[in-house]
Amino acid sequence: MSIEKYIRDIQDFPKPGIVFKDITPLLAEPEASKMCLELLLNGLPDVKIDKVVGVESRGFFFATLLAYKLNAGFVPVRKPKKLPFTTISATYDLEYGQDTLEIHTDAIQKGDKVLIHDDVLATGGTAKAVCELVEKLGGEIVQCNFLMELTFLNGREKIRQYDIFSPLKY
Ligand code: 5GP
Repeated sequence: MSIEKYIRDIQDFPKPGIVFKDITPLLAEPEASKMCLELLLNGLPDVKIDKVVGVESRGFFFATLLAYKLNAGFVPVRKPKKLPFTTISATYDLEYGQDTLEIHTDAIQKGDKVLIHDDVLATGGTAKAVCELVEKLGGEIVQCNFLMELTFLNGREKIRQYDIFSPLKY
């Protein structure tokens, strides 16, 4: 089965000039979703993972499935003012302006083995900020995985010190 055919290109979204990879057809197709989950699981090193961190919002889908399969906890990283308990935050640069992500201060214990998941690795700014949050709380990053990587944006460079895995590359 080819999973690529369930990823749809949307021209000029969210801004003119951007081709957005839409994963909603893949989420709607159970066999394709199952295959993605298997590919992500097969790419993991043989380490017991304590927490799977998912990035708002498209990272949540597979991060929760991974957490369930790995018998690990799920931890959401969210946009500002969404998480109700005490948080720490990381701010990162976008093409124009900045963005901030938050995590609950008690979401990760010192020494936890952490898997970070998001749907897409583009410029790597998001993933780098998430890595910073996890390490501030004392987590040890086992891997950063993504459904797909937009290789021409070179996001790997920003998080090159970590193990990076993505079954699909564009
Ligand atoms: P980065 O910070 O690596 O530039 O962007 C990655 C973040 O933006 C991820 O959270 C991802 O969900 C979102 N993103 C950027 N480009 C795309 C895209 O083409 N498709 C999807 N689904 N998400 C994208």
